[in-house]
Amino acid sequence: TYIVMDPCVKCKFMDCVEVCPVDCFYEGENFLVINPDECIDCGVCEPECPVDAIKPDTEDEGTKWLEINTKYAAVW
Ligand code: SF4
Repeated sequence: TYIVMDPCVKCKFMDCVEVCPVDCFYEGENFLVINPDECIDCGVCEPECPVDAIKPDTEDEGTKWLEINTKYAAVW
């Protein structure tokens, strides 16, 4: 799955949300998150992010951000 990491905080661009084919972006406290259960791992959003905040969860610190994304996506 892909996850949203800290550069997204206070970012106002929504380009990633628009391209996601399964609409799995949700609003966290002050940044967007991806619902890992809905993400189909297509990778389309990654190059769309202007602040480079979207990464695969295999990235360094990916586990930590996976938990955060899961937590905020679950609020919805
Ligand atoms: Fe959506 Fe694809 Fe990005 Fe997952 S990888 S959040 S399915 S655009």
